[in-house]
Amino acid sequence: MAFNDAFLEELRAKNEISEVIGSYVNLKRAGRLYKGLCPFHGEKTPSFTVYPDTQSFYCFGCGAGGDVVTFIRKAENLDYIEAVKLLADRSGVRMPDSGYDDSMLKRRNRIYEINKEAAHFFFRQLTDEQNRHALQYYFNRGYTFDTIKHFGLGYAPDSWDALKKHLNELHYSNEELYAANLLKKSAKGGYYDNFRGRVMIPIIDIRGRVVGFGGRVMDDSKPKYINTSDTLAYKKTHQIFAMNFAKNHCKDAIILCEGYMDVIALHQAGFENAVASCGTALTPEQVRTIAKYTDTVILSQDADEAGRKAVDKSIALFGEVGIKVKVLNVQGAKDPDEYIQKFGADRFKALLEGAETDTEYKLLLAKQKYDLTSPAQLADYVGEAARILSELSPVKRDIYASEIAEQTKVSKQAILSESKRFAGKAARTKRREMNRSAMQMQDDKDKINPEKRRHKAAALAEEHIIAVLMNHPDCIRTVSANLTEEDFVTAFNRHIFAVITRRIREGKSLNLSAVAQELSEEELGTLAGLEAMGKSLGNPQRELLECITTLKEEKLKLVQPDLAHMSDEEFRKLFEN
Ligand SMILES: [Zn+2]
Repeated sequence: MAFNDAFLEELRAKNEISEVIGSYVNLKRAGRLYKGLCPFHGEKTPSFTVYPDTQSFYCFGCGAGGDVVTFIRKAENLDYIEAVKLLADRSGVRMPDSGYDDSMLKRRNRIYEINKEAAHFFFRQLTDEQNRHALQYYFNRGYTFDTIKHFGLGYAPDSWDALKKHLNELHYSNEELYAANLLKKSAKGGYYDNFRGRVMIPIIDIRGRVVGFGGRVMDDSKPKYINTSDTLAYKKTHQIFAMNFAKNHCKDAIILCEGYMDVIALHQAGFENAVASCGTALTPEQVRTIAKYTDTVILSQDADEAGRKAVDKSIALFGEVGIKVKVLNVQGAKDPDEYIQKFGADRFKALLEGAETDTEYKLLLAKQKYDLTSPAQLADYVGEAARILSELSPVKRDIYASEIAEQTKVSKQAILSESKRFAGKAARTKRREMNRSAMQMQDDKDKINPEKRRHKAAALAEEHIIAVLMNHPDCIRTVSANLTEEDFVTAFNRHIFAVITRRIREGKSLNLSAVAQELSEEELGTLAGLEAMGKSLGNPQRELLECITTLKEEKLKLVQPDLAHMSDEEFRKLFEN
């Protein structure tokens, strides 16, 4: 997949990195750089940095880094060619006609096509007289035909090969249909339809492509849902159901529901900001996607034990990215769908407006656990409430403490001092956790170059040499005179070094977009970090010589020969070296 340097140069020039990243991340200028909250890991203080002069980015928290193409790859979950295409389209740069391998892209686009055809097929089945019961199922749920069309709902007939036959006629091969997870393979190697006798809900991504399906039984049989497993076109941990519609209606808030059916019912009732995760518990990736569109989330989970656990986990996940969380208290119905059917949309709207903040929700749950007429349990409740308040700002703590004091007749002062004690303890735990997570991140970075742990001094010297070269390619003469690839101790750095020194000698550009094609994502991330570090080195020439000496010493330790058993000839050679 070799794009020529001239094309990449044009692509880079027309897609100014701070502008492109600025549409994903809220960037603040800091001198010659920009800083913001990293979109690739949860953080509250910005360690994500954009360098306009080298058109690169690097996160000091998680080690993600690279050029504008790398950023798009990671942010949009695309492969290299797709990311290049997206940037070319965005900026009106013409893609080269040939010379790159886009077979992966073609296979993925083929899956989108197949999914679309399958969705049409499932929809048509609904209007078929012999599948009347499926249409009736939707009507029984209260869905109108407009809603069915809007979501492209359908029905997979109870047949082993109805879809297979239809798509084969359209010249899609069984292997392709299998890759889209629409067919399954029997032990004997035959193919059959994955979805049978189920109502079908297409999952559509933000760009309007059908990426997968959820299929639900119409009775109480199990499994209730079958979902498309991950394919080239679909990663369920990244996908959010109905985000394609909700993205235009969610300035104020997003309603996060438990399942597809709740979402569809809410949209029909006029709440077009409702979404759901796709057959998984909420993931950090989904949280970050939601965070791109809104700063408030209203959680609408079933009122059972599993639902409460999901709420707790979601509050924590959204908290990590600074999203405000409210919790819907659906009473008198098992889920929002049923609530709207029973009480109507207006009552649901009132419910939304009265949604509890995460603090109110936690306090309510705590209160329900205890019998407040018993002094011992009352004390336990106040203790738990004080712990909940300890997570709040002093002002909010004060407000809630007044309320609890009134409820329990315990003095506000006592509640406040108890929660202060908790806050202090929590702060200490948090510091320890942060240290641990910093160490964890360092470990993760070490995983990228696994030899670094054993050969720390050598690896650091190698990294500094690369850092100097990235910023001062003319230092190549000093390097060439003193060092070869073979002197490198860690294979990971050796490869980066080989690539950049070869490019310097060939007179090729060292900008990350150009180098990206020759390096893995991890190598490029590391290189972006080293390039950033290299900017702050005082005297590059001296730094370089010191690091070369260190590296040679370290290398020598590793190959320390057995002097006692060496021939004169060998000794002379070693000495000359
Ligand atoms: Zn990061």
